[in-house]
Amino acid sequence: MSKLSERLTALSPSETLAMSQKSNELKAQGFDVINLSVGEPDFNTPDFVKEAAKRAIDDNFSFYSPVPGYLSLRKAISDKLQRENQLTYAPEQIVCSNGAKQSVCNVLLSIIGKGDEVIVPAPYWVSYVEMVKLSEGVNVVVTAGIEQDFKITPTQLEAAITPKTKAIILCSPSNPTGSVYSKDELQGLAEVLAKYPNIIILSDEIYEHINYIGKHESIAQFESVRDRVVIINGVSKGYAMTGWRLGWIAAPQWIASACNKLQGQYTSGPCSIAQKAAEAAYTGAQDCVETMRKAFERRRDLMVKLCSEIPGFKVNRPQGAFYLFPDCSYYIGKTIQGKKIESSADLAMFLLETAHVAAVGGPAFGAPNCIRFSYAAADEQLIEAMSRVKKALQGL
Ligand code: PMP
Ligand code: GLU
Repeated sequence: MSKLSERLTALSPSETLAMSQKSNELKAQGFDVINLSVGEPDFNTPDFVKEAAKRAIDDNFSFYSPVPGYLSLRKAISDKLQRENQLTYAPEQIVCSNGAKQSVCNVLLSIIGKGDEVIVPAPYWVSYVEMVKLSEGVNVVVTAGIEQDFKITPTQLEAAITPKTKAIILCSPSNPTGSVYSKDELQGLAEVLAKYPNIIILSDEIYEHINYIGKHESIAQFESVRDRVVIINGVSKGYAMTGWRLGWIAAPQWIASACNKLQGQYTSGPCSIAQKAAEAAYTGAQDCVETMRKAFERRRDLMVKLCSEIPGFKVNRPQGAFYLFPDCSYYIGKTIQGKKIESSADLAMFLLETAHVAAVGGPAFGAPNCIRFSYAAADEQLIEAMSRVKKALQGL
């Protein structure tokens, strides 16, 4: 009999992190692996942010912080929401955590109970469905394929709602598809949700700053649902700070207070130095964000071109984030080197072993016909990687 809890045994490991680890293991064995699996900016954290962290160490920010984060950081986030999103949140409505990942989990653990349904549009980020399972909730997956640019429609949403629906998790710009909901599309979803006042809307906006169509749109802008929206965001992607582990929510007071209570028993406030770094990121000059965004946009164009040239790949043109999620169903069911490709996870493994290019198979994102490439890598690496992929798939 397993000594582990049912909760833990039911949990799948993170596929994004697993593929990245496999790629690092191969690299350590001397193989020239190009890692397009894990999604994180390849840029260094901006210098002024690093300086703020060094100052924080010298100024002895070495004690426990308040559980939801320093007031000065929550003020900086509140100002950011007003300045960039025209949304008013008091610092008390903000809770900072060890990354947006913990923020999502805090909210789910706070509001989801046994049997509560959570609508998760697919393709979804790997961790959502696992976090719902941890909360003893039930995932209700609503699928949107490449033909609808991976975005669900209001009709699909309404069809998935039942009396047990407690929450929905939206992610725009999306990981893994790069799709971005327009203001009109969000309004369409908000109009449906306005009819169901018990549904909480988690809006994961961690890729806010990596947007290729101009202004970021949040579903929190619609008054009809505003008091039920929890915005999830952080510094990992926009400011190239994945390792610092600093995310946050802006939420209705009762949810912010619940997450504060949970976190107080669970992890306490996030790292004091990372908080000071994040405060600098939000209050300092923002040109670094635009510089990185522009580089990602150039690479998006490059990747769309390179992937479109691979026979059997169907691609959309992502409007944000730094992922391309080609539909590779053409290869599924084929036999490669004596091995049958049952899903895009097998294809990802084949590409890792044969082309030494690490990508993540679609099953982890609820899309077994697609494969995810992160293009947060140098242009030359992307060119080399896609040339290897093309060659490995040739003749199939
Ligand atoms: N949400 C999405 C959609 C993500 O891609 C990520 C990054 N893995 C996160 C949340 C978590 O980000 P963080 O590094 O702040 O925990
Ligand atoms: N956002 C990244 C990804 O999806 C980070 C890895 C993770 O936390 O899942 O690859």
